[in-house]
Amino acid sequence: MIRVTENLGIIRDLLASAAAEAGRDPDSVRLLAVSKKQPVDSVLAAAALGQRDFGENTVQEGLEKIRAAADERLIWHFIGHLQSNKTRVVAENFDWVHTIDKPKTANRLSNQRPPELGPLNICLQVNIDNEPSKSGTSIDAVPELAAACSELPNIRLRGLMCLPAIREGFEAQRQPFAKLRELGEALQDSGLAIDTLSMGMTADYRAAIFEGATIVRIGTAVFGARK
Ligand SMILES: *Cc1c(COP(=O)(O)O)cnc(C)c1O
Repeated sequence: MIRVTENLGIIRDLLASAAAEAGRDPDSVRLLAVSKKQPVDSVLAAAALGQRDFGENTVQEGLEKIRAAADERLIWHFIGHLQSNKTRVVAENFDWVHTIDKPKTANRLSNQRPPELGPLNICLQVNIDNEPSKSGTSIDAVPELAAACSELPNIRLRGLMCLPAIREGFEAQRQPFAKLRELGEALQDSGLAIDTLSMGMTADYRAAIFEGATIVRIGTAVFGARK
């Protein structure tokens, strides 16, 4: 686990310097450590260094880690594709869902969220490059889906998330993130109180930070290659 300890120090420094270079407060960028396909010991090693936010992309694996690390009071983010027959487990166990792309899933999560846990934080996943292979709502459907989600009692719409097509080079990587930022600004202009852009991974976090990412979802740079 020495590697996780070292990696976490390195990535924290890299995020802070990217934020500073972009003229942003380093505290405005939150590191979501993506622990999918990594052992729970790696989660515990990161938690021992103060890392609080962790991301999982399958319900079963996520649930196992949430239970195994229950004493740590961590914040768990669901970042995978969510099938509607699995919403209950997510509503009862996670703190955030980044991948809402239909009103049906949002409705189910709101209905199934135990009110005593407080609202479930959600982001709308936007298929920013309009790729047939990827989930996410189309750009055009964002305003209506956002408005619908903002009405639901037990979820709280926090913002937008994207997973762009792979691009080489900083300037090229910025383009889809700029588009997501503009979509978020349009929602704010329409009166929605959103505060989150979930964008950027190991290969492109720097471009995402330059375009205003408030959550970067980083797996490999924290935990090493996945099994
Ligand atoms: C796996 C995953 C990540 C992290 O990817 P890395 O390249 O390992 O940083 C981020 N977001 C989502 C949605 C993922 O599935």
